[in-house]
Amino acid sequence: MSEKKFVYSFEEGNKEMKEILGGKGANLAEMSGLGIKVPPGFTITTEVCDIYHKNNKNYPAEATSQIDAKLAELENKMGKRLGDPSDPLLVSVRSGAASSMPGMMDTILNLGLNDDSTVGLAEKSGNPRFAWDSYRRLIQMFGSVVLGLEHKDFEEILENVKDTKGVHYDTDLETADLQEIVRRYKHKIREVKNMDFPQDPKEQLKVAIDAVFNSWNNYRAIRYREINNIKGLIGTAVNIQAMVFGNLGEESGTGVCFTRNPSTGENKFYGEYLMNAQGEDVVAGIRTPLAVEKLNEAMPHIYAELVAVCKKVEDHYREMQDMEFTIQNGRLFILQARNGKRTAAAAVRIAVDLVKEGKLTKEEALLKIDPNQLNQLLHKQLDPLAKEEAEVVAQGLPASPGAAVGEVVFTASEAFEKAKQGLDVVLVRIETSPEDIDGMHSAKGILTARGGMTSHAAVVARGMGTCCVAGCGDIIIDEKAKQFTIKDKGIVVKEGDFITLDGGDGKVYLGRLTTKDPELSGDFTIIMNWADEIRKLGVRTNADTPYDAQVARKFGAEGIGLCRTEHMFFEGDRIKAVREMILAADLPGREKALAKLLPYQKQDFIGLFHAMEGFPVTVRLLDPPLHEFLPTEEKDIYDLAREMEVDMGTLKAKIADLHEFNPMLGHRGCRLAITYPEIYDMQTEAIIDAAIEVAKECPMCGRATQVKPEIMIPLVATTKEFEILKKRVVDIVEKKLAEAGMKIEYKIGTMIEVPRAAMVADKIVEAGAEFFSFGTNDLTQMGAGLSRDDAGKFLKEYVAQGIYERDPFEAIDQEGIGEMIRIAIKKGRSVNPTLKIGICGEHGGEPTTVEFCHREGFNYVSCSPFRVPIARLAAAQAVIKERK
Ligand code: PEP
Ligand code: MG
Repeated sequence: MSEKKFVYSFEEGNKEMKEILGGKGANLAEMSGLGIKVPPGFTITTEVCDIYHKNNKNYPAEATSQIDAKLAELENKMGKRLGDPSDPLLVSVRSGAASSMPGMMDTILNLGLNDDSTVGLAEKSGNPRFAWDSYRRLIQMFGSVVLGLEHKDFEEILENVKDTKGVHYDTDLETADLQEIVRRYKHKIREVKNMDFPQDPKEQLKVAIDAVFNSWNNYRAIRYREINNIKGLIGTAVNIQAMVFGNLGEESGTGVCFTRNPSTGENKFYGEYLMNAQGEDVVAGIRTPLAVEKLNEAMPHIYAELVAVCKKVEDHYREMQDMEFTIQNGRLFILQARNGKRTAAAAVRIAVDLVKEGKLTKEEALLKIDPNQLNQLLHKQLDPLAKEEAEVVAQGLPASPGAAVGEVVFTASEAFEKAKQGLDVVLVRIETSPEDIDGMHSAKGILTARGGMTSHAAVVARGMGTCCVAGCGDIIIDEKAKQFTIKDKGIVVKEGDFITLDGGDGKVYLGRLTTKDPELSGDFTIIMNWADEIRKLGVRTNADTPYDAQVARKFGAEGIGLCRTEHMFFEGDRIKAVREMILAADLPGREKALAKLLPYQKQDFIGLFHAMEGFPVTVRLLDPPLHEFLPTEEKDIYDLAREMEVDMGTLKAKIADLHEFNPMLGHRGCRLAITYPEIYDMQTEAIIDAAIEVAKECPMCGRATQVKPEIMIPLVATTKEFEILKKRVVDIVEKKLAEAGMKIEYKIGTMIEVPRAAMVADKIVEAGAEFFSFGTNDLTQMGAGLSRDDAGKFLKEYVAQGIYERDPFEAIDQEGIGEMIRIAIKKGRSVNPTLKIGICGEHGGEPTTVEFCHREGFNYVSCSPFRVPIARLAAAQAVIKERK
């Protein structure tokens, strides 16, 4: 039996092998195959990482021998040996999982140097400065990544030597300075770890590979996977590649580029580079990199070659690429290519452009956009008028668009803690690092003093859709004093002060500027139109006010799937009438109070029908338990007693009477109407009066608006409940229509949110339900026995342990709750094959749930207004995936 293959040289792989070679390995292999100049190397598969972790940190014996064999092959190819004291082969050891996780795992460069081979390299290259610079970089990276020293242990030494020498940049250090740094670094390792920096390159390689495997499970990598919902991967691959050097002098350099602008999507080559540097210098933001166009002036032939290679790679992948390159003594090498992370605006523009350029079909283009990412486009921007009037106090790079208003914090942990308390914060850092992931995720915006457009802060913020201004050299941060100073202006901003960022142009303002809703681009409309051509699911909105309904219409909603009428009861004087109704001693008292509510409700529905211009409007009759409308604080109870002219004792007794131990399963939904039918009577009257009024010709404009009311009864568990309530509703509607001499198309249906209703769905249809709308919030609560209000405390742990793949209140639990839905649909449609089916729980705007709804034959999904475009795109993607 042939032995299992665990190690592949670049010539043996291709882009389809991401699962085992990781994204980086597969793409390096693919590029080698395309004839692009990639330094040779090999990849240890993700399977080895998996085995390593399962097998007490040991690899299979075949993997070890295969690594040795591939290393020997690499040595032959390069004509150099790892550890050769006179002419050493140096390699990079880099992580790379199937999904890109930028900066989250570890990398070691210049591996293979030791005290002897550094001297050999110095002689062989004729460039001692380069050799010692490479050695100090190796010790620094190896020390922090493999040996676990702190970054600052090395930074302090480096800064100290630079200060003594009176220089600002690493590139100003000379050989003797670098030798001194190496000496001190080694001393530091001895002091902290009580060991010597390992001199044997084979040992260096072995522990470096282990370190990369271990980094798969470091905190920031785990958090990154959690936040980005990256599941099902077995580990990281390890790429071992011959080093090429960007730190050989002024004819060498390194950079990062994008084949199109990752912020705007403009089809313009875009990137940054540094001469006499290695890769980490560009990303770390210590020296400010140059725009890649400058390379055209400095080395025009290299620039032309780079542009040509990038175009070739983009055309090959038919996707915008993010690439890393190194120039070694005037020769160009490509070190990495991957699909570039981009803003939502860029994603939309690039997708449209690639179709226009004939590189993608519409369907392929639609699949390239992550529906959740559209959130970025739909969120607030700074009000231009407010911007005009406000003073710009500092200017940085526009790293990730959007607007952020919040109080200043200086550490990621503070950002996390304050955000947990519900505060809006802007995280201000000299530069960010992967450890800051939680704080960055919690912050409304990120401001950094250092770093370019490809710095850690910029890349991560863009991916998250968080507003970010990077490289703002106008500010001097004093983390200890928890403040920053704006240069030249002498303004001091302290922790807790408010600032505003504009991630679109990199401007910083003091205080809180007003924000405004975004304007959507023409490309966005094109994408949405393509999605609409393809999707089969309708997309409605959950809206309780005419304003929300109008916003949703602008985003393309085709009706209201859920109007929660209780929200209307809290406004202005209405709550008084509601309370009067609750406190009334008898039916006449309740009817009197309800009569006061009727005109308000009617006006509400008129607004909704107008806003929806003939699209269906599903109104849910009152749902929450009545105690939700009464006060709980002593003072508020006292005020209410005075206002209602009842004594405190009576009021308190009523409140006590309404108290429930388990209100979610108590006297709510249709159960209220079984005992107090007059409440639904009033609401039905208001709906149908409003419908009649809107459907009539307007005396002013002579125009009639079509109306399609759908009356929905909540929390139905039994057929009888539905039967009784439907009859009352129909009687009122028919009477009103007859009086008005009008015919209006209307429907009466039910929510399916109690598991029992799902089990008797056929009987509920027989009893006359004309539509079902799945209330998946309650269906999840009751179906899985998870309290909507309390389960959050432990569900995170459930998801972390893989008990639920996702939070079941966010994405539908397709296996369990999904099965109940499937049963209900099957039963319902067995009686009425054209039964209209929708969803109105929070899941309705979540892409995987939308796909589920498409597969299960729903007619529509309904979600909050801002998620309507997400649902439209997800619904189209569901069709395309199904065809595939
Ligand atoms: C539901 O339960 O899914 C629903 C839409 O109703 P509510 O969230 O108002 O209980
Ligand atoms: Mg509900």
